[in-house]
Amino acid sequence: MTDELRALPKIELHSHLDCGLSYDAVRRIDPRISREHYDRHFVAPPVCDSLGDYLTYTFDYRAVLQSERALRIAVEDAFAQLAADGVAYAELRFAPMVHVEDGLSADEVVAAVSDETVRQTEATGIDAGLILCTLRDYDTERSLRTARLAVHHARIGPVVAFDIAGDEARHPLDTHLPAFDLAADAGLGVTVHAGEGGGPDSVTEALDKTTTRRIGHGVRSVEDPDLLARLAAEGVHLEVCPSCNVQTGAVASYAAHPVGALRAAGVPVSVSTDTRAVTDIDLTREYARLTEAFGWTLADFGEVNRAALTASFAAPSVSRRLAGILDDAYPKVPA
Ligand SMILES: [Zn+2]
Repeated sequence: MTDELRALPKIELHSHLDCGLSYDAVRRIDPRISREHYDRHFVAPPVCDSLGDYLTYTFDYRAVLQSERALRIAVEDAFAQLAADGVAYAELRFAPMVHVEDGLSADEVVAAVSDETVRQTEATGIDAGLILCTLRDYDTERSLRTARLAVHHARIGPVVAFDIAGDEARHPLDTHLPAFDLAADAGLGVTVHAGEGGGPDSVTEALDKTTTRRIGHGVRSVEDPDLLARLAAEGVHLEVCPSCNVQTGAVASYAAHPVGALRAAGVPVSVSTDTRAVTDIDLTREYARLTEAFGWTLADFGEVNRAALTASFAAPSVSRRLAGILDDAYPKVPA
């Protein structure tokens, strides 16, 4: 069963480059870090006490990802994991300003990740786009700098979009709207983390105040029937990461995850890992859990992967190639 799921071609839209480092990659970057330390500080328990508790497990990744060499190892490691997971196209995201604590400029951070992404795409055949994140607790100027970086690097490399991550419940979007306007005006893709740490209002805010048609998580939309109807009517795509949602406490248990209710309401959803290493998950195991908990079949996986492709920021030529790959692997949708 697992081998069949592993072989399925997958489109992953929501994966944080800086929260996916395997132990082997961490050890290459800093050989002093033991396996025991990694298991205790880089991998969070399946259910954390709170989102704040969960976020403490992301800090050590930042500490080790402060050089060009470390960033290139992270990208190489990410592609190795994607290849082992049957991923055909991925959008990898990171916050450049997190990696400037030891001498790198933000521009050098994005240049290194972009260059290594191109190299890894050529080496593995896995297409990928990069999404640059600002963080909710940043000020307007820092968000603008991240958006300008995204616009600049989208012209010369694989950057495709701008995003915001961080504590949704405590920091509304207003501070960051100039950055979203700048990205959208330049024709860049936009997505917004909302409706996980924050309630349905955070999703409504993102839709009303930015141009986004994609929401990172958005699972708490299920609490508001009017919002659900709006998501379905407007075709707003939710990047759903079930195991991570359980881990952060956004949903009470895997069995209680609303992914089925969202799909039943007509909302387009895809399935992603969010934080492969912090959550100790890959898409193959996530698909196995969806099969076990909700009885998902090949047709379900075909539907979510086609929805992912439709919502992706991939170039048209890449999208056409990926559509062919999905058609070969999944039952065709009746016309
Ligand atoms: Zn995320």
